[in-house]
Amino acid sequence: MSKVALVTGGTGGIGNAICKRLADDGYRVVTTYFEPEEQARAWQKKQDYEVTIYPCDVSSYDDCAKLKQAVEADVGPVDILVNCAGITRDATFKKITPAHWSAVIKTNLDSIFNVSHQFVNQMAERGYGRVVNISSVNGQKGQFGQSNYSAAKAGVHGFTMALAQEVARKGVTVNTLSPGYIGTEMVMAIPEDVRNKIVAQIPVGRLGKPEEMAAIVSFLVSDDAAFITGADISANGGQYMS
Ligand code: NDP
Repeated sequence: MSKVALVTGGTGGIGNAICKRLADDGYRVVTTYFEPEEQARAWQKKQDYEVTIYPCDVSSYDDCAKLKQAVEADVGPVDILVNCAGITRDATFKKITPAHWSAVIKTNLDSIFNVSHQFVNQMAERGYGRVVNISSVNGQKGQFGQSNYSAAKAGVHGFTMALAQEVARKGVTVNTLSPGYIGTEMVMAIPEDVRNKIVAQIPVGRLGKPEEMAAIVSFLVSDDAAFITGADISANGGQYMS
């Protein structure tokens, strides 16, 4: 039987590329959607690979518990978890509201606990598992107008390092992937003049591609990456060198 890979946020730009890559690699791929079901089913039909979809608000622990029950009943235990769902609500600190703050912390950081808590303990019991948490270059270096997002994404790697230690002897690896600016809707939503300034600061002179992030995830979840755990893999075109 093929291993089961759960990718949260697979309907988004990076998540979709990860789902496709893992499906091409031979995993049974499951993802979550947050948008209305009709929209998500239409998205699913358009894909040229097999993907099973479930509704889930990753900021809700109860939703994640329901997700676990449904996935295990329909597809089986999860071997690989990629925590990819995320949002931005950018505002300078002067203008940021408690709602901006908590939406980003809940969706980008609480979610990592909410989803991982459903699946990682059983991975450890079964003696095998892979977890990849998608952070961001802005969690490594901070970003003007993103105190909420930078805090959440920095927190993601703290979680990775702690959990990696707890499950290292159980055959489970836990790593962070910190992408730089990738050409998805999240980045295309940045005003063009601001985006051009960002690209000008990337040494390779372009945005990254979702497929480039997917290739790194593909390696991190492979058997060849068994000795890599607690790492934060930077993929940012040389924008930030940690
Ligand atoms: P997108 O906006 O394209 O996709 C975001 C995904 O997250 C969508 O599938 C969306 O679902 C899902 N999502 C949002 N809120 C929730 C929620 N509450 N519950 C469940 N799912 C939710 O973003 P990207 O593909 O660009 O980003 C993916 C990840 O990579 C994020 O964690 C982001 O922070 C990170 N990242 C992105 C970078 C970039 O340059 N694009 C750079 C660095 C990191 P739906 O569509 O159904 O609403």
